Amino acid sequence: MSEHVYLGADIGGTFIKLAIIDEKGNIIKKWQIETNKRNQGQDIPQDIYESFKVHLFNEKISFDQVYGLGMGAPGFVDLPTGMVVEAVNIGWKNFNLKKAMESFVKKPVFVLNDANLAALGENWKGAGRNVYDLIMVTLGTGVGGGIISNGQVITGSNGTGGEIGHIIVTPGEGPVCNCGRRGCIETYASATGIARLGQEALQEGKSTSLRKAAHSQHTITAKDVFEAAKKGDSISQDIIQEVTDKLGFVLANLAVALNPKKVVIGGGVANAGEQLLEPVETSFRKYSLPRTAEICSFELAELGNDAGVIGGAYLVKQKLNL
Ligand SMILES: [Zn+2]
Repeated sequence: MSEHVYLGADIGGTFIKLAIIDEKGNIIKKWQIETNKRNQGQDIPQDIYESFKVHLFNEKISFDQVYGLGMGAPGFVDLPTGMVVEAVNIGWKNFNLKKAMESFVKKPVFVLNDANLAALGENWKGAGRNVYDLIMVTLGTGVGGGIISNGQVITGSNGTGGEIGHIIVTPGEGPVCNCGRRGCIETYASATGIARLGQEALQEGKSTSLRKAAHSQHTITAKDVFEAAKKGDSISQDIIQEVTDKLGFVLANLAVALNPKKVVIGGGVANAGEQLLEPVETSFRKYSLPRTAEICSFELAELGNDAGVIGGAYLVKQKLNL
């Protein structure tokens, strides 16, 4: 048992993942609690505190051994103040999560956007292997992003830095994004976007084996599109080609600004593995400055759902100079 520990919390719309993490970044214990959305989410800090209290006690770890708590929240977060500007699926609006949490734990608390926190975790203990410059993109229901530049996660002037999902690839065209604009990469490369392209192919009456999946499940998922493509369905192959080309284009343009050593791709869509990674990398190399592409390697994320809590530990370590 190490002398000191970090606490990590990754707050989602349904569950909150919690973990006690040792000084080297190994998880001592992890678990999850339900996200209590009653009372506009105001009771969440206390829920988290009570749950840590029980699990620390069970692990025979006292609060004196805790360096601090690193947290991720869905939505825009102002890092210096720990203010969650808005987390729609929880009910927070201008909620000072850092302050609320510190009133319970009496230890330093740091808050980041959840995708940014995952990028820190992947860089510390996962696919990043501690590079100084990294782009992480999380392809789930939406497209999350985390950018690490010179070892620091980019949050920007008011918390919107690194929001890769809202980079526009089809100006003024395409479905309306969650941000209210059209043409964001999120509307193409997310699980939702890939499924939508599959549905549209069906509605256009195209000949595709996706029709079978649609009949048995009444809906198309991103996974169906990848599976059909693997079995040779040319419509599904075209969809994957379109989506990965757009994502590679976004990453190549980002790379001009950031010159990353690594691009890490995670989230549910990344379960497709090489079937996703290979064409994204090919597209990236097609659009990149040659010298930028030369130094940059592509990896699948390795930590899965643990990336956030491990990133939480790393955030505390980094902020306290440990
Ligand atoms: Zn958007």
